[in-house]
Amino acid sequence: MKQQNKALRAVLGALTVICVIALIVFLILRGREEKRYAQAFYGMSTLIDQKAYGSKAEQAMQEAERQLLAFEARLSLYDAQSDVAAINATAGKQAVAVQPETLALLQQAKALALQSDNAFSLTLAPLSLAWGITSETPQILTQAEIDALLPLSDDTALILDETASTAQLQQEGQAIDLGGIAKGTACNVVRDVYKQYGVKSALLSIGGNIYVHGKKPDGSRYRIGFRDPQQFTQASIASVALEDTVFAVSGGYERYFEQDGVRYHHILDPRTGRPAQSDIVSVGVIHPDGTVADFYSTTLFVWGKERALEYFQQGGCGMLLDDNQNLYVSGHLKDSFELVESGYEVHFIEE
Ligand code: AMP
Ligand code: MG
Repeated sequence: MKQQNKALRAVLGALTVICVIALIVFLILRGREEKRYAQAFYGMSTLIDQKAYGSKAEQAMQEAERQLLAFEARLSLYDAQSDVAAINATAGKQAVAVQPETLALLQQAKALALQSDNAFSLTLAPLSLAWGITSETPQILTQAEIDALLPLSDDTALILDETASTAQLQQEGQAIDLGGIAKGTACNVVRDVYKQYGVKSALLSIGGNIYVHGKKPDGSRYRIGFRDPQQFTQASIASVALEDTVFAVSGGYERYFEQDGVRYHHILDPRTGRPAQSDIVSVGVIHPDGTVADFYSTTLFVWGKERALEYFQQGGCGMLLDDNQNLYVSGHLKDSFELVESGYEVHFIEE
């Protein structure tokens, strides 16, 4: 009997030790999953900021940085080695070989641009370079200069050959610029890295364009802010809870120069060749494909409020601030939308 009790005590003791060890291991692993890492760097002419949780977060963020810089080098208008520079240098002459990823993106971007009713153009580079709005030496173009460059904005002249993986601009002097979709597409690149590394929770910001990966470690959704650029603060006027999606924001306030009291911003209207005259101050589009989100944020800005609201009525998701303190919000977002600042009139858009 005594011997049996002794054996039982030994078994119980061993079990207790095993349970305590298992608990410690569990707590350590959970601690690693909940540990938050952050890093920031400069790329794509803006600040890129990542926050990620989990044991693979640091490695994943490093790889994301590497891939983002490679993405920029492949697509930058300003990098002589890029696929985009090669296409531009041979415009009107011959087709050039491009990376398959570049070709796929150009195909998607061209199809989207051709649906935009000439609000979004991939071939605005001759005009945008002449305006130089984001450069050190911006200038106001004369109507004659605009008239000379405007015919070069023609996306139907971008010929893509999938089998040969080549691209060609048909007219000499034409040039493409992917600035209107680059940041959103970059979000897709980072999303794939996070997935590959098994990161479950992360937030990426590329100059205010946000990618939300998963939920917070406590199971709640990330809240993303929408700011009023006219308030000269970084504070949000409203926020929404999002998950696994991209929030792309466009506005004339982002990049501009001023002369004689007139503001010239970086979003051009391909119909006039001038900065788009929009009654939208800022528009945010939410879509799981960052390319689509970014395409629409630029396009809706050029379209203006009336047509932009139609996009939201037809199922598009996002929000829009007009030049009269009206904030229009997709019905989809009603459950999680919160107005943070007073002084704005909120209108939910029903489909
Ligand atoms: P976003 O900040 O996404 O609205 O993109 C603005 C950038 O897209 C500009 O800095 C230009 O590089 C490019 N861009 C400007 N106007 C247009 C347009 N109408 N269509 C396509 N890209 C544009
Ligand atoms: Mg855009």
